[in-house]
Amino acid sequence: MIERVDLSVRNMSQQVRQGTFFILASMAVLAVFLLNEVILRYAFGLSALNIETRHLIPYLVLPMGFLLIVSKRIMIGVLALLAVLQLIWFGTFTYFGNVLGPNIILLGLSQMYEIGLTATGEWQIFVLPVVLVIVLNSLFFVFIQSFKADRFPINMRLGIFLLVLPFLVISIRAFVYSKPFVITPSPYMLSHTGVVQAVSLAARSGLTDAQFSDRGAPGFIVDDQAVPLDKNAEPVTVAVIMGESIAPLELGIYGAQKETTPLMSKRFQGAGKLSFIPKVGFAAGTSTLGSVPLFIRMSFNPVAAFRRSTTIFELAKKQKFSVGFYSAQNIKPLQIAGGLNHIGKVETKDEWQAAFTQKRDAVIFDQMKKSPLNGKHRFYFIHQRTSHSPYICDIPDAIEDRLDVRNKPPAGLYNASKTMAQKTRLKTYKRGLLCYDKSLNDILTRLEQRPGALYVFITADHNEMMGEFGLWGHASLDLQGALVPMILATNRPNGEIAKKFAQLGTPSSFEFMQVVAKALGQDIKLERPSKAFYVNGIVAFGRRGYLEVKKTQQIDQFSTITIMPDNQRSEPKIETMGGLREVLSYLEKYSLSSSAATLN
Ligand SMILES: [Zn+2]
Repeated sequence: MIERVDLSVRNMSQQVRQGTFFILASMAVLAVFLLNEVILRYAFGLSALNIETRHLIPYLVLPMGFLLIVSKRIMIGVLALLAVLQLIWFGTFTYFGNVLGPNIILLGLSQMYEIGLTATGEWQIFVLPVVLVIVLNSLFFVFIQSFKADRFPINMRLGIFLLVLPFLVISIRAFVYSKPFVITPSPYMLSHTGVVQAVSLAARSGLTDAQFSDRGAPGFIVDDQAVPLDKNAEPVTVAVIMGESIAPLELGIYGAQKETTPLMSKRFQGAGKLSFIPKVGFAAGTSTLGSVPLFIRMSFNPVAAFRRSTTIFELAKKQKFSVGFYSAQNIKPLQIAGGLNHIGKVETKDEWQAAFTQKRDAVIFDQMKKSPLNGKHRFYFIHQRTSHSPYICDIPDAIEDRLDVRNKPPAGLYNASKTMAQKTRLKTYKRGLLCYDKSLNDILTRLEQRPGALYVFITADHNEMMGEFGLWGHASLDLQGALVPMILATNRPNGEIAKKFAQLGTPSSFEFMQVVAKALGQDIKLERPSKAFYVNGIVAFGRRGYLEVKKTQQIDQFSTITIMPDNQRSEPKIETMGGLREVLSYLEKYSLSSSAATLN
């Protein structure tokens, strides 16, 4: 009897010792596990220790799970899964300069092929994440195997449960949380839980898509009114050149440090027959498919645009313009926008794939030549591909090296330190702009041959972030991502259209398209006036959220509210558009010496 009591006391003290050791051991494992994460954060420029304490909570149970599992195979499997999550998190950060959010996942699903092409084209920047993640996780495996003594009670089921538990909780929370956009992953989260949260939010957003309706639309209706055309009027040619991923801050014509647009700069200085009115404005969205269809529908609000079936092609046809759509991209944006039946000539990359592979954007001239428009009045919608990543341009180094380095870059923009891969990316993007410049110049040369009045409206589907505020690429719901060049090139610089365009400040896509429509002889007006304008996210018609934007007293500051598909509105915040002030003052200075100055 006495012996048995002794035994249980000894057992108890042994259990206490074992328990204490277990907790200390799991703390040690946690420290090493987090060290792995901190090293990766440091390597990828994510602030290494800037992790919010609450995001560490799910990590408290993981080490216990590691310690309770004895099977090497299961351990390797678990670590491989965790490594994949890290790769996704840091790979996304490396590519976009932003951590993974549900919008990026949904974009990935809808444009898997495109993203795949882009990612493989930029493979160099993924080498470091892949190598580091593999090395660090292998080291962790060796550590955990050698650290585990036989002193622990092995409990596989409990171990696996503890490893799954935090992810389960995060996933469920993401599904039931009342304001999903509030818990979109931030850089203060850790990789594994961040990815699970983003995926869960994306799944929620996808599943609740059925709830989507016009509820979110403020009900702005666009009213189209035709102005009768004068039968004896001179021939009119109107063109929209929709660029791809064009960063206004990197264009020579906008005062960028490097002369990335030598041919257009010559034109701006008076070469050719056209006068230029350059502006910086806001595209309709922050991805190709989120933006181009809304431009085509001349929409004011992205959600209301869903019910607006009128396209710029329809207006043009109504006004007796022959209409052509020439594109170095696929037909998808046009399919989403509609209006195919109003276009006489449709030429897209889909049928020109082989030629496109060889000639890139130059394929547009072949399209225009082989499938020309006829008729007195003509409307061209031209969709370029340069300079989408991977930034491909065949202009030789020798030419690139000769380009001037001019003004200083806008202050404060490029202070963020860049990795070698990012520097290479910036360099290749700038080279891509040389091809953009050439493409613009060639298209203008062709259009200049038209008799009568010529109005060429040049813009882009969205910006391409080049390290501004640490962001790279496009497709996030940031206002800066929508900043694009908006230029009118015309041989009627003193006419009504030029005056209207010159009066615009920093135009929204709707204001831009209003002038395009005007050039076609159509007035498009809002049913009631609005102080706000809208910038869509990455999926057409606001289905993944959009921004309500108001101008402020400051030319480079805007007040934005994020609106999600379920009509949830964020608090307003003031956003400063980096570089906009500098570009606007450059343009003001420039316009004193340009032909656009003759406007009054
Ligand atoms: Zn695009």
